[in-house]
Parts: sequence; structure tokens; C-alpha cells
Amino acid sequence: LAANLATLDALLDKHRASGITNLINGEARPAASGQTFETTSPVDESVICTVARGDATDIDVAAQAAKAAFPAWRDMPATERKAILHRIADGIVARAEEIALCECWDTGQALRFMSKAALRGADNFRFFADRAPSARDGQMLPSPTLMNVTTRVPLGPIGVITPWNTPFMLSTWKIAPALAAGCTVVHKPAEFSPLTARILAEIAHDAGLPPGVWNLVNGLGEEAGRALTEHPDIKAIAFVGESKTGSMIMAQGAPTLKRVHFELGGKNPVVVFDDADLDRALDAAIFMIYSLNGERCTSSSRLLIHQDIAEDFEARLIERVNNIQVGHPLDPSTEIGPLIHKVHFDKVTSYFDIARKDGATIAAGGARHGDTGWFVRPTLFTGATNDMTIAQEEIFGPVLTAIRFTDEAEALSIANDTQYGLTAYVWTNDVTRAMRFTTQLEAGMIWVNSENVRHLPTPFGGVKASGIGRDGGDWSFEFYMEQKHIGFAT
Ligand code: NAD
Repeated sequence: LAANLATLDALLDKHRASGITNLINGEARPAASGQTFETTSPVDESVICTVARGDATDIDVAAQAAKAAFPAWRDMPATERKAILHRIADGIVARAEEIALCECWDTGQALRFMSKAALRGADNFRFFADRAPSARDGQMLPSPTLMNVTTRVPLGPIGVITPWNTPFMLSTWKIAPALAAGCTVVHKPAEFSPLTARILAEIAHDAGLPPGVWNLVNGLGEEAGRALTEHPDIKAIAFVGESKTGSMIMAQGAPTLKRVHFELGGKNPVVVFDDADLDRALDAAIFMIYSLNGERCTSSSRLLIHQDIAEDFEARLIERVNNIQVGHPLDPSTEIGPLIHKVHFDKVTSYFDIARKDGATIAAGGARHGDTGWFVRPTLFTGATNDMTIAQEEIFGPVLTAIRFTDEAEALSIANDTQYGLTAYVWTNDVTRAMRFTTQLEAGMIWVNSENVRHLPTPFGGVKASGIGRDGGDWSFEFYMEQKHIGFAT
């Protein structure tokens, strides 16, 4: 821990000196208004540095830069774009330790998980870089009188808006395919954790990305975020965040007919049948809610457990949950760090009383950890029913709600009885049941006898209030590009 803190301290010097600036048209710039806000560490509430508080003026300058840079970037040979994106990946790898330490300090996520986040970000760039040369491939669809040709063309400047929970990885996940498709970008990162988005934009600049192709504007959601969604030169918004913010963005983007791609909230079930490999199911259930502080859209926040195995499974769960290491995010042994911010801490801890009032049992945790910072004990609610608030609302913390079921039909009905539909996890050794059950589950992504393991060519996204559209593989290009048909008379 001491060594990590010393390294971090040296790394933060430059941010303390200059503050986090915007990066527009290849230039580091303060907000046009001169205004800033402070980003603080959730560990001890100390101020990390100031951040440019961009608004509609900065967004306009950035959108114009993205618009001006678009034709040359679109028309650059794809092999050259591919080479630049690989250089960005190289830059990420070279600064992986810096990214991990800054991300942990800014977000409160534990280093044991975030040490891999930078490398995942680099993988995202390499994956889409390699696909850039074929992104525009189309088809020949001849008719009796026409040689019909289809191709794909990039949309233009894209607005990317990201949340605070895993800001680095999520930024790469959106920006890499946009650039590979030939689009230019204006990125508005979350105000609670702006450090690593700035490092990422700097890496791209140093990798030789032409000015204006990737612009970064920091600021608040209601100011810079809103202005980005309303700007007429921005052709689409790729957004990751809360479902209610998605609704607002849809309304804000309506007058300019924005194409939208939303990755939103979840209340994902992990369903454990009595014939499952219970040791593996237990490990996965724990990992999927108590890693990344439970601040993870794909977290399995509802445990649906068959009544015949529930007592024993819950007892083992309680023992494990009580042994989870809560501590400083830069301590390599820490499993759960502090929640991002007081606002979020207040929200998560408010569910402890709600659970009591609802009539559930707080079987583990249910309290603050320590006196400073936004630490909470990993928490397990048992004896819950699916109509309780703790089973319906996205808590977005290390809080698991356990609900018992009697048979497959009831498990299905509980699993689907939510406004969300991002992921689901099913544990059973009956393959026929797994097929039947997953066919009827309302979720964009389902894993059977597995935790969430991301494979980049597969579609990522949710149904219902969990999202619109898919990322991954060619699906990303479908969003960032437009199909074009040309018919040649024969
Ligand atoms: P949020 O919706 O509060 O904020 C996300 C971003 O939107 C921030 O950059 C914010 O400044 C901006 N914003 C806020 N209001 C805006 C407005 N009116 N116009 C434009 N931009 C605006 O979300 P959060 O609290 O930062 O993140 C947590 C949420 O993100 C959770 O609901 C979580 O499930 C979700 N999430 C989803 C995925 C996924 O892939 N489905 C991944 C990570 C997080």
C-alpha cells in the first residue's frame, strides 16, 4: 500500500499543477468560462485536483472541431487508422500502472480488479483496430436491371457520455469502435471520476491521432452533457449510465433526431437450481456482486435460490460475505473499496432501513465501515420477496438480495419481474432446463454455469429499461455507421 501511495502521489503532481483540462482540437484548454469543479477521492474526501467545468460553449467548440476533422479521418486509409489505434493500445499498456492507480484513487475501486482494466481497454482498441479495414464491407445484390451495392459509411461526429463506475474501460469500449468506423468523437466523462479519461485522451494525442478527431470536454451532466446531446453537429450519442438519464437524453436529442445507443442499469438475477454445482455457483454469485464494489451494471444483485438448498447456501454465503476484505483501494489485499461519493453512499446505505421496513433480514453487513470515506460493509438481505424495493431498485453497491423460489416457473416469473433486463446468470446441470429457461428469460445477456466473461465479438447490451442497441463485434459498427445502397443500371 505504501509503495502504491507514493507512486500515485508522484503521478498526481501534474494534475494538481494544471488541473484536469479539456482537450479540444489537440489542445489542452481550460473551460471557456474559466470555471472549475473539484474531484475528490472517496477514500478520505481529499481534493485530488480541479477539473475544467465545460459548458455549451466548450461543447460547441469541440463539436465544430470534430466536424472539421471528420472528412479527413473518414477518408484516411483504414490501414493507417488501424495503425494509430494500435499505437493508442501500446500507449495504454505503457501507462497501465498509472491508469490503474489513478482510477482506484478517483473511483474507490479495488486495485486487484482495476489492475486489469487498463489492459482490457487496450484490448478494446486492438480488437476494433483490426476490424477497421473491413468495417465498410458490403454486399452485391443484383436485380434484373440493377447491380445493387451496399456499403457502410461512418455517421460523423459522435457524442460519448460515460459513467463513473469503471470510467477507463467504458470509455475505450465506446471510443475505440467509433474511431475504427471512421467517426470523430466528443467525449464527456462522468464528473465524479474524470482522471483516467484525461489520461486516455492524452495517450491518443501522443499516439498521433489528428487534432479534432477525439475531443474531451469535462463538466456536469446537466451542462456539458446536455449540450452535447442537443448539438446539431453531433450525429449520435453513445451513452452509458442510469436508465432515467437515458430517458432525459432521448428527450434532449429528439429535436435534432439523434441516434442513441444506451447501456443502462440492471437488477440482474443469479438463479441457482438445486441440481447446480453449488461450490462454483457460490463463488460466482459472490464475485458478481461483491467485486467492483457492486458498482457494476452486470452485477448479480438478486440471488434466486431454490428453497431446498436455500438455508445451507445462505449460511455459506453469510460466512463468505463476512470475510470479504474492505479497505483502502490501493491495498492489493482489498476486495471492496469505498463507494464513489457521499451522494451514492447515502443512496446505498438508505436501503438498509428500507430492507428492515420491507421485512427482510440483514443477514450480513448493513452498516458503514470505518469513520471516514464512503466505505460500506458487504451486505446480504435474506427473506426477501420480489415485490420489495430492495428487489426492484438498482442499489449499485455491494448489496445482494436473496429470494427463495419453489420451482422453475416461479424462478422465471421472479427473474423477469423487473423493469430491467441486462444480464442473468443460471446455475443448473440440467441442460434441457437451461435451454428452456434461458429462452424465456428477459435479458440481453445470459451466462449458464458461468460468471460474466466478456468475449469481444459477442453482443453486449440489455433489454427493457437496461438499454437500447448492442456493442461488440460488428454490432458496434452498426451503430457508428450508416448503411448505404447504390444501384447501378445494367
Ligand atoms: P448517470 O446517468 O448519473 O451519469 C452518466 C453520465 O451521464 C455522466 O457523465 C453524467 O454527467 C451524464 N449526464 C447526467 N445527466 C445528463 C443529462 N441530462 N444529459 C446528458 N448527460 C447527462 O450514471 P452514473 O451514476 O454515472 O453511473 C451509474 C449507472 O450506470 C448505473 O445505473 C449503471 O447500471 C449504469 N451502467 C451501465 C452499464 C451498461 O453497460 N449497461 C455500464 C456501467 C454503468
